[in-house]
Amino acid sequence: MYDRLSRRQRNHRRTVIRYYVKLAAEGILLIGAVFLMICGGRYLWGRFGLGDAEDVQAEEIGREGPGSGETEFFETGKGDGDREDVPGPYVGYTVVLDPGHGGMDSGSSVTLDGELVEEKNVTLAICQRIRELLEQQGVTVLMTRETDVEVSLEERAELSNREEADFFLSIHCNSFEDDASVSGLECFYWKRDDEGKEYAESIRDAVTEIEDLKVRGVSEGNYQVLRDNQRPAVLVETGFLTNQEECGNLLSEKYQGELAEKIVQGVLELAEQKLKGV
Ligand SMILES: [Zn+2]
Repeated sequence: MYDRLSRRQRNHRRTVIRYYVKLAAEGILLIGAVFLMICGGRYLWGRFGLGDAEDVQAEEIGREGPGSGETEFFETGKGDGDREDVPGPYVGYTVVLDPGHGGMDSGSSVTLDGELVEEKNVTLAICQRIRELLEQQGVTVLMTRETDVEVSLEERAELSNREEADFFLSIHCNSFEDDASVSGLECFYWKRDDEGKEYAESIRDAVTEIEDLKVRGVSEGNYQVLRDNQRPAVLVETGFLTNQEECGNLLSEKYQGELAEKIVQGVLELAEQKLKGV
């Protein structure tokens, strides 16, 4: 009796144990399957550029800077959001940018390959590139004009004085109809503006690195936007529209970018020294 009962008990116990082992094994399999599904899902989510993967990509692009081939100078290359969190050395530094001419006043004009080229459009395009690069460095940029409108010379200098700009930069293109071979870039400052002269020299030094650009140097210039300015000011004659090759360069986005980059480099190298009190 005892033996029979204990055998039945043992059989029962074996059945119960088998049941729980099976249950535990199924449970482990289920947990494993769910885990694999979550991992797989996360992998596919990232793999096909969804969700977080986009942010990672954006971060990587940002780290490379505004474009390959840029100098080390523009190494921050951070997005707008990042820049607010990490104030750069030029935060609080203000530049008034002045694209020459505008509206009814076209400045110099030439015809290149049957197309009318007007100085006012070239100066605005170059200033827009300069603005982009300065803003990437945390500089506050004020433009005397952002579209094709006429702005008086008094107003241009007045903006610089009123806003107490750290630096005023006027961009122009030159012309010399008597001799189409004349080319090159020249920086002007007002004779009583010692700091303007320093900026002009710093810009000259930086643009010298541009291949095939003839740098005509730094000179005193009797221009109203310089004369009326109480802030350090420079007027850059970027090149001659009457020289076909230079005119073509000034119209090309690549050259405009290169020119803007070097001008900004010249401005900020001096700005950095001034901000450090060197
Ligand atoms: Zn001009």
